[in-house]
Amino acid sequence: MVKKRIGIDVGGTNVKIALVTDEGQIIYSNSVPTRAEMGYEYTVNNIKQAIYDLMKETKTEAKEIQGIGFGFPGQVDCQNGIVKLLPNIPGWVNVPIAKMLEDEFHIPTRIDNDARCAALGEYFAGAGKGCQNLVCVTVGTGVGSGLIINGKVVRGASNAAGEIGHIKLQMHDGPMCGCGDTGCMEAFVSAPSIVAMAEDYIKGGKSTKYRELANPEISAYIVAEAAKSGDKVAQRIFKTMGEYLGIGLASVVNLLNPERVIIGGGVADAGEIFLEPVRNTIKDRAMEIAGGAVEVVAAQLGNTAGVIGASLLIEN
Ligand SMILES: [Zn+2]
Repeated sequence: MVKKRIGIDVGGTNVKIALVTDEGQIIYSNSVPTRAEMGYEYTVNNIKQAIYDLMKETKTEAKEIQGIGFGFPGQVDCQNGIVKLLPNIPGWVNVPIAKMLEDEFHIPTRIDNDARCAALGEYFAGAGKGCQNLVCVTVGTGVGSGLIINGKVVRGASNAAGEIGHIKLQMHDGPMCGCGDTGCMEAFVSAPSIVAMAEDYIKGGKSTKYRELANPEISAYIVAEAAKSGDKVAQRIFKTMGEYLGIGLASVVNLLNPERVIIGGGVADAGEIFLEPVRNTIKDRAMEIAGGAVEVVAAQLGNTAGVIGASLLIEN
């Protein structure tokens, strides 16, 4: 009989909920609005209702569900199932979410951060299949990662491992980072830094395709579209971003010697114009043996990696 779990991916705008098999196949999915301004209890009640809807529509009873897993965009206490702090979802401070769900459904519930869930999803059902050592990088508004070493998720002493966005690329006078320090990789490589660089080029009077595409504002997506349609300035921006990410990842590759680096997230949707400079920079700058052992590939699961990975937390 197929084993089933529930995976839940909590985001700033909405919460995705899915019934997933133990092989990472999504059987059913739905979503509810987060509405953080209403308080976390509101969101939790919506999630509970969505789980009842899921069970009803798939004719699944609670006793058939092996576990519930949550991915959150922020700090979590995985061992105790407590959300510590979500920087972009106000009100979620020390919320014992696992206990709240276990009291309601009597199904074992686990939590982790969203980057680790994405890594687990890719490891079991996506671009990381067959690897024992991988780094799954998510490049969007920020830069996060999930690490799998010797087939195990790496969480660290206080569930804070994997913050590769804060690897320092510049010792002094670097750009400010959201973490409060300067010179972090995330301050160089992220959707906001793509937009900032694109706007700088416009100020410099360079003719650019993305200026025409902007409606009305420039986004990383628009710069990517311009790059794909051959705009040289937009291509240059992605090449520079890819080089920055590649420099940071060269250190990660030297440190961990992974078989695969998987790159996902909104910025990675730009595809090879972004991945190729990442790959080339790692090959050029990492130590020869580690650099020669690693493949740099695109994530495969897109925005389903989070729910699939969360569903796997029950045994990982
Ligand atoms: Zn930082």
